Amino acid sequence: MSGPSTGTVYLVGAGPGAPDLLTLRAAKILEGADIVFHDALVHPDTLALAARAEKVPVGKRCGRHSTAQRFINKRLVDAAGQHSIVVRLKGGDPMLFGRAQEEIAALEAGGIRYEVVPGVTAALAAAAELSTSLTQRGVARSVALVTPRVGEGEPPSEWARGLAAVDAGAIYMGVGQADEIASALIAAGKPPTTPIAIVENASLPEARRVFATLASLPRFGRQFAGPAVILIGPQYRARAQVVQDSAGHDADPAVRRAAGSGAG
Ligand code: SAH
Repeated sequence: MSGPSTGTVYLVGAGPGAPDLLTLRAAKILEGADIVFHDALVHPDTLALAARAEKVPVGKRCGRHSTAQRFINKRLVDAAGQHSIVVRLKGGDPMLFGRAQEEIAALEAGGIRYEVVPGVTAALAAAAELSTSLTQRGVARSVALVTPRVGEGEPPSEWARGLAAVDAGAIYMGVGQADEIASALIAAGKPPTTPIAIVENASLPEARRVFATLASLPRFGRQFAGPAVILIGPQYRARAQVVQDSAGHDADPAVRRAAGSGAG
């Protein structure tokens, strides 16, 4: 089939927030981009790399108006007919909770060339922020990446059972439903004393972190309005202790407070 000549669509991971946590490949593609469709959370300095591109926000933030996914898919296909380098820039990694598959399906259906460029996902930026490994020898050998979020018309999710079956987890898009998350995990068999950590704005100067337990998650969950991941697993108890012991060196009062009240 030889249709009109088309460009390439790059599904690019922008990383968790800090503009220098971008791959060299992503930076190079952005520099050559003609048009960039970007998420709401992408840092302005990252967008600025696409100096000559038209920038189109198509971001989705919880609860706010967002561009319908089908419309984004169509715009990507249309843009490939008009430009040679089209970028779909997504927070973190495009292949994790980013609806990349729907865009890939649309591009394939439209016969459009595309490439996926990975990025640093929020859970790993949060692990770095906490200086706490997501996996730990003898302690956390399995990690589940989950979201409690279920879209309209989708079948019910078994996320809590899945997470309860492994050692550790990272919960995306969950901080606004902290109450439901705590009850679902406790009902699925995780003890209320299971240690958790919440990290907001990982990788950015305004990052905040709190250590608590599953039982106290609802109380702490309400304090976060920015993008945040909830980490769960035995390794966070030990870490809360370290942070508490070195509280004099830690500038974040929320960490001291939570470490003090959440360790038990
Ligand atoms: N594709 C993205 C995830 C998109 S879902 C990735 O790989 O990271 C959006 C969710 O990611 C947010 O609700 C939050 O749970 C998490 N998130 C994104 N950026 C974050 C950050 N800087 N710090 C903590 N959590 C973040």
